[in-house]
Amino acid sequence: MKILISGGGIAGLTLAHWLHHWGHIAVVAERAPHGRLGGYGIDFFGTGYDVAAHMGITDRLAAHQLPTDSVCYVDGAGRVTARLERQLLEKVIRGPYLALMHTTLEEALAEAVRDKVEIRYGQHIAAIEQRPSGVGITFAEGRQESFDLLIGADGVHSATRELAFGPEERFARHLGYTMACYPLHDTYGLGPRRVHYSEPGRQTILYPTGMPGELIALFLYRTADHTIPPCAERRAALRHTFTGMGWLTPQLLDAAPEDGLFMDSLTQITMPSWHTGRIALTGDACAAMTLTSAQGASMAMDGGYLLVQALHQHADHQAAFHTYETQLRPAVQQRQQRARTFARSLVPATRTGLATQSAVTRLVLRNAFSGLLRRGYGDATSILTRT
Ligand SMILES: Cc1cc2nc3c(=O)[nH]c(=O)nc-3n(C[C@H](O)[C@H](O)[C@H](O)COP(=O)(O)OP(=O)(O)OC[C@H]3O[C@@H](n4cnc5c(N)ncnc54)[C@H](O)[C@@H]3O)c2cc1C
Repeated sequence: MKILISGGGIAGLTLAHWLHHWGHIAVVAERAPHGRLGGYGIDFFGTGYDVAAHMGITDRLAAHQLPTDSVCYVDGAGRVTARLERQLLEKVIRGPYLALMHTTLEEALAEAVRDKVEIRYGQHIAAIEQRPSGVGITFAEGRQESFDLLIGADGVHSATRELAFGPEERFARHLGYTMACYPLHDTYGLGPRRVHYSEPGRQTILYPTGMPGELIALFLYRTADHTIPPCAERRAALRHTFTGMGWLTPQLLDAAPEDGLFMDSLTQITMPSWHTGRIALTGDACAAMTLTSAQGASMAMDGGYLLVQALHQHADHQAAFHTYETQLRPAVQQRQQRARTFARSLVPATRTGLATQSAVTRLVLRNAFSGLLRRGYGDATSILTRT
């Protein structure tokens, strides 16, 4: 089959790899003009790691890990109040664990499909027409083309979903936070640590990217307003929200770029069905869980893998879409629920809430409580090893 994938991110590139592997022609339309730059760090383990191992890219990923050996929680003076050592995290996860830049994973996936799959950078879909024998696509530059199937892997704000299923607000579940992040030069001597500092309703996080002297500053805040300002206004909006925040926050804000600051609301996507006719969705487009799950990338890879496996098992695409959704949905729902629960206490809104969180964090990060921590990080079971 000739299959169009909208979106060349983690889900789209994984899908493209496995479609090619099973003899299909995959074409990826990626809106960005080239592979994305910048980005943010991700914890990578469980099912996604297993899919990556099947693809033979884990050595490459392991060679580009973030140089972090612990997660530290600090007070306003930078004194460490609690510390999560990497060894404890690995014990909790009970399997391989990698701390990566999101772009490291995307680059490894792009490399895996290089010269095998056509990736059309700077291209996106303007209109879709479902026909009995295929899907008619009109691209934004006006070109028309026919495909057997269309898979939307274009992220949480998916245009494929909008065109085929309806507006985002119908499926969006906002968790009451906005996040922003950007890279900056390390003038702080941070060392191999990820550092968290919180005040009521606001959190600043800092970690090294693995590029010499480069850090990522990440800001998270509670808000009922999930609209995101235009690029040119984000820096000012962030400075306004974090006015008066302690620790290194003022310096980090001074170093914010005028443009190119990534900002988004924490939004989950929940849909009654992930497919319609010859169109299906995968990754964040249908199952976004937000950063509080720490498993969105992992599940995006799982989705790409399972969708192609189902297409290989069934001659009929409807049966394949049904099988894919039936296999993946329970794992997604479980992680989304856990992410919502975790989000409630992620950044406490009051000083009392923060003090309680700090005491609980110190307790939970003791080795003896690894079982409790495991519940927060998920069971990390792999559909690959279950089937
Ligand atoms: C700050 C942060 C921290 C995170 N931490 C973790 C973590 O620790 N562990 C984890 O597993 N996950 C984490 N996640 C979530 C994870 O990054 C996502 O779940 C994952 O990237 C989803 O992959 P995707 O391919 O579905 O979507 P995306 O990665 O968003 O990729 C979508 C792609 O589609 C392209 N696109 C968008 N619109 C169009 C269009 N109209 N036409 C064509 N192309 C389009 C985009 O340019 C992009 O390349 C985190 C996310 C954030 C923001």
